[in-house]
Amino acid sequence: MAYKTVNPYTNEVVKEYPDATADQVENALTETHKLFKKWEQEGPETRADQLHEIASLMREDSDHLATVMVTDMGKLFREAKGEVELCAIIADYFADHGADLLKPTKLDTIATGSAQVQKHPTGTIMMVEPWNFPYYQIMRVFAPNFMVGNPMILKHASNTPGSAAAFEDVVKKSSAPDASLVNLFANYDQVSDIIADSRVQGVALTGSERGGRSVAEAAGKNLKKNTMELGGTDCFIVLDDTDIDTVSEIAWRARLYNAGQVCTSSKRFIVAANLYDQFVEKLKENFAKVKPGDPMDNATTLAPMNTKRAKEKLQSQVDEAIEKGAKVAYGNEPIDLPGQFFQPTILTDIKPDNPAYYEEMFGPVAAVYKVNSEQEAIDLANDSDLGLGGIVFSGDSKRGEKVASQIETGMVFVNNFMVSLPELPFGGVKSSGYGREMSNLGLNAFVNEQLIVTA
Ligand code: NDP
Repeated sequence: MAYKTVNPYTNEVVKEYPDATADQVENALTETHKLFKKWEQEGPETRADQLHEIASLMREDSDHLATVMVTDMGKLFREAKGEVELCAIIADYFADHGADLLKPTKLDTIATGSAQVQKHPTGTIMMVEPWNFPYYQIMRVFAPNFMVGNPMILKHASNTPGSAAAFEDVVKKSSAPDASLVNLFANYDQVSDIIADSRVQGVALTGSERGGRSVAEAAGKNLKKNTMELGGTDCFIVLDDTDIDTVSEIAWRARLYNAGQVCTSSKRFIVAANLYDQFVEKLKENFAKVKPGDPMDNATTLAPMNTKRAKEKLQSQVDEAIEKGAKVAYGNEPIDLPGQFFQPTILTDIKPDNPAYYEEMFGPVAAVYKVNSEQEAIDLANDSDLGLGGIVFSGDSKRGEKVASQIETGMVFVNNFMVSLPELPFGGVKSSGYGREMSNLGLNAFVNEQLIVTA
């Protein structure tokens, strides 16, 4: 059985889940398609009420839902509670705004008569999601597509099956049709077969570049529209006029949230030479303060990584970075606890011939670079195949915005953390993928924008 929960704090195998059968796959396709045909004939109003209900059920059951996530992949309980609340906010947002955003738009045209674009559902969506935000990743696709009228089949990560089942349970408990979201413990071949099926009209994946490339290949071969939300090596630029105390308070959190396992974590800290020494010193102080321990305990501030394999991969990346010349300014010591803990680590002196210069490190490791000018900061930020997000700090927010607009990523925040909210589009460029989730852009990802011209 490929799908199992192994608690990354205790290493205990908590539960194994049987693989999806061929009958379950066929049933998911049949039921979601039947629901699509029904939803095609209905407006989104009833679904708005059902989505609000899903938000309420998540809030009511947030302790349980958060505990399931902590057991699956180890995140801190309070961060898990925050994630459940964010899911409810996303569901409420699309319930409140979906119908308006889906209204037909009139077009000015020189054609005879009137022209409008109507927005229709297109069919079942196959979603493939990662373990790092086990509910939020689902909700980003679920809420907008539910309002559009596209039922969904979910293939979650093999290490977060408890969360996948719990999300599906919430939908089942609500008055939404069961086929709104069908979770399958599917293997890669079954995912490919589902994508190839004519009842499926879209594919949404969040995950690694490697996973994205193979699922996008299957989608492309079958001419299925798809969105790809892949990895990032987000920059955190500190310009020379930045207040060092403010930026230092944000920097460590921007790296260590969710044990550093966030696609939009700040991974490359690009710091003006006049502030570099102070910045590294303060980052060290803040990294030294975190307390590893039981993620269910509110006193814990550093969660274990999600799996033993993920920790080993990160360790091998750090070892290679050091071998190729990087210096350890802090960390890289073992943590004497049974769980999959990785000590927050700061690497400096990473040169372009070091693999660490380009690779994404998906854990609590910060790479810090010293730059001598604003242009050098921009060039370094853009010297990456990935282009997801980034942060720019400056004492002058207009200057920060000017620099932000020169960063080749899908999202940049100036003088603050990156946050993900339903009204803000989320997505990247270059090998970080394409398409957007959330906001009106995400809502329209799998919509048939049908032109109707009436003479
Ligand atoms: P993966 O891409 O391996 O996993 C993401 C999801 O894709 C999982 O459900 C996985 O299933 C599935 N998957 C992967 N390959 C295929 C395939 N060929 N066919 C069908 N499904 C597939 O990412 P990892 O879990 O390995 O995470 C590691 C990397 O992912 C990080 O280093 C980071 O780059 C990236 N990442 C990015 C995120 C983002 O939000 N942009 C979030 C999480 C990770 P299964 O678990 O069964 O392999």
